[in-house]
Amino acid sequence: MIHFKKVKDLQNYLETEKGKGKKIGFVPTMGALHEGHISLAKTCKTENDICLSSIFVNPTQFNDPLDFEKYPADLERDINLLEGVGCDILFIPGVSEIYPEFFRPEKIPIGRLENLLEGKSRPGHFQGVCMVVKRLLEIVQPHQLYLGQKDLQQCMVIRNLVAWMGMKEKIHIVISPTIREPDGLAMSSRNLRLNDIERKRAPSIFQTLLFIKNNFRVVDLDILKKDAATRLTKNGFRVDYVEIARASDLESVRHWDGKEPLVALIAAYNNDVRLIDNLFLN
Ligand code: AMP
Repeated sequence: MIHFKKVKDLQNYLETEKGKGKKIGFVPTMGALHEGHISLAKTCKTENDICLSSIFVNPTQFNDPLDFEKYPADLERDINLLEGVGCDILFIPGVSEIYPEFFRPEKIPIGRLENLLEGKSRPGHFQGVCMVVKRLLEIVQPHQLYLGQKDLQQCMVIRNLVAWMGMKEKIHIVISPTIREPDGLAMSSRNLRLNDIERKRAPSIFQTLLFIKNNFRVVDLDILKKDAATRLTKNGFRVDYVEIARASDLESVRHWDGKEPLVALIAAYNNDVRLIDNLFLN
C-alpha cells in the first residue's frame, strides 16, 4: 500500500494511473477502522483497479469539541487492516493539506436533510461533512465512491452534494450494507468508548429497530415510535430520536400507505456515547 500525505503527490500519482485507464474507487474514513470500513474497502478493491482509502478526522463535522477530542486513533492498526484487504493507496493528509490557507468554505445547499434527524441534533454537522467530502472528491476525482448505510442520512446528503457539484455522471456512489457485531450492534468507532455495562445494553438499539420492523404494519406509527422509545429508555438509553420515515427523503411518516418504502432510524445516548442505527422496514 502506498501512503500519501500531500495532495499534490497523490494527484500526480492518480493522474498517471487514470491516464493508463485505471478505475479508481474511493473509501473516505476517519480511521479507528473496523469491519464496517473494511467491508467497504473489500468491495472497492473488487470493483476497481485501484482502491484508495483516506483517513482524516475532520474537525469541521464535530459539533461537540469533546467528541472530536475523544475520537479514537490507531494508525498502525488501521494500516494493517487496509493492507489485509489489498487496499492500494492510503491518503493521510494533515489539516493544512485539506484546509490550506487559500481554502474558502462555502455554504452547500443541502436542503431539508440539513435540519432533520442528525442535522437537527448536530447543528452544522452536515455542512462540515460536505466541506470535507467536497474537498476530498475534488482532490481524488474517483470513478466510484463507497459509503456505508450505517450513516444513511450522510449518504443522502453526499448524493445531493455530488449532484450539486455536477459530478453525478462522473462519480458512481455505492452504498454498502451496515456490518454488525454478532449481537446486532452496528459497528462504529464510537463502540470503543463503551464500558462493559454500556456495551452489554448497546444491542438494544438494533433490537428496537427489529421491534419496529415486526410491528409497523399494524399500528399508528406515532404510537409505535413512542413504544420503541420507551423500550430504549427502559434499557438505560437517553433517546435523541426514534423516527419512521420515507426511505426516499427521510421525511417522517405517521400513516403508512402500504407501499411507500420506509426506514426506521434511532439515535440514543448510552451514557455519554451517542449511537445511531437504521433499518429498512419493507
Ligand atoms: P467514518 O470513519 O465513521 O467516517 O465512516 C467511514 C465510512 O464507513 C462511512 O461511509 C460510514 O458510513 C461507513 N461505516 C461506518 N460504520 C459502518 C458499518 N458498521 N457498516 C458499514 N459501513 C460503515
